[in-house]
Amino acid sequence: MILQQMKEITDAQKKFFYSSQTLDVAFRKKQLAALKQAVKNNLTLLTDALHADLGKSAYESYMCEISLVLEEINYFLKHLSKLARPKKVGTSLAQFPAKCKIVHDPYGVVLIMSPWNYPVQLTLCPLVGAIAGGNCAVVKTSEYSLNVSSALEKVIAEAFVPDYITVVKGGREENTALLECPFDYIFFTGSVAVGKVVMKAASQQLIPVTLELGGKSPCIVDETADLKVTARRIVWGKLINSGQTCVAPDYILVHKSVASQLKQSIAERIKETYPDALHCEYYPHIITQRHFDRLLSLLDGMSVYSGGGYDAETLTIEPTILENVSEESKVMQEEIFGPILPVIEYENLSEAVEFIRKRSKPLALYLFSRDKGVIEYITKNIQFGGGCVNDTVIHLATTHMPFGGVGDSGMGGYHGKESFNTFTRAKSVLNKGRMFDNSLRYPPFTQSKYNTLKKFFK
Ligand code: NAD
Repeated sequence: MILQQMKEITDAQKKFFYSSQTLDVAFRKKQLAALKQAVKNNLTLLTDALHADLGKSAYESYMCEISLVLEEINYFLKHLSKLARPKKVGTSLAQFPAKCKIVHDPYGVVLIMSPWNYPVQLTLCPLVGAIAGGNCAVVKTSEYSLNVSSALEKVIAEAFVPDYITVVKGGREENTALLECPFDYIFFTGSVAVGKVVMKAASQQLIPVTLELGGKSPCIVDETADLKVTARRIVWGKLINSGQTCVAPDYILVHKSVASQLKQSIAERIKETYPDALHCEYYPHIITQRHFDRLLSLLDGMSVYSGGGYDAETLTIEPTILENVSEESKVMQEEIFGPILPVIEYENLSEAVEFIRKRSKPLALYLFSRDKGVIEYITKNIQFGGGCVNDTVIHLATTHMPFGGVGDSGMGGYHGKESFNTFTRAKSVLNKGRMFDNSLRYPPFTQSKYNTLKKFFK
């Protein structure tokens, strides 16, 4: 029954796609402008929904969700005409006379599956890329952020006809049915485990995928770091959305000589910004009871440097620093995705590098240092999705750089131009002149032609 419904949606969108309306760049820009308007019209609805689902303040929601969507739309309103223009390229001598060009082809009907933690921007930013690329889209929102799902449903219905873009709400059952439908592209944001389910299902129909996944993102602090600034920026990056951020610094690797000073600076900074976190109107709660229980279980038997309190009624957990953390502890086995920050000490930088390399390639890496040699070495020698030097998280809040993971943290990227590349494919078209035909390519394949051919391609 659900499968039948999902197939009807994809069939209707395929029909819309083959009407060729989306090939027109002016049409795409009009849709982007309509989306921008719908987001603005429903700003309060969206921020209220984010507050209801996650306890996010309107300020944080605007800073970390709405502004990114508007930036992404503005980027394409400004640059789409140029990006979408077919690109003339050279013709090799052997193919002369001909004209060659690369056409940026939309995929067709794309499926965008989004998570609950930044449910507005992680749904709408990929959607902006899909629209800019000239695709139709089915947007599957998360069952854990239901208020936002309903708000997004309204925004999208206000901006678009469903045969072009529509929202599907629901959980696993809907996802499983959608993954059986003949999409032309799948863009998934979520956990590594579900990423594997998505890729496996996509492989059955050879559907290309982008996977935006998670994992443990390390934060290195060396002995040259400015500890006050470091503490301020770590606390900000760790505690927006109460740590439920895919690129939050998951754990700290700090040089032994500055470890106790850093812990103290972080604890002080937490007190300054969240003096009473459990009753703070701008400190979000944990999304579900299951995640709340999972996070508390990570504290079992651990040495708490500061924090550790919680409120089971409101699903809120205090910002918590852990010290003397062993590699084997549970908190170091999985992505934390909450306001718990393990601090691990190292003596030589090579130990920190080894520590990171032994684990899955991280989605993000942060380094706090004033040593140019260290900065150069770490950014060059460790593979990670993206990251910052002397800051956290903000590398993703730009249309100028791609955002994405590597290895277990994902494949492919988006934002700005990278989104356009993700949601289109480069189609090569060679237009051959009729006047001249090089006889070398036609039989009979004589010895003298063979000799000429070898002179051509040596
Ligand atoms: P999730 O993988 O549990 O869920 C994502 C979506 O998959 C949801 O819509 C859910 O309904 C669906 N789903 C769950 N189980 C499924 C199954 N067995 N088969 C098919 N579909 C299924 O992720 P989440 O809990 O919503 O989000 C948290 C994770 O997402 C974290 O790991 C985080 O790091 C990651 N994440 C990554 C990014 C990024 O940009 N790389 C951004 C945000 C979150």
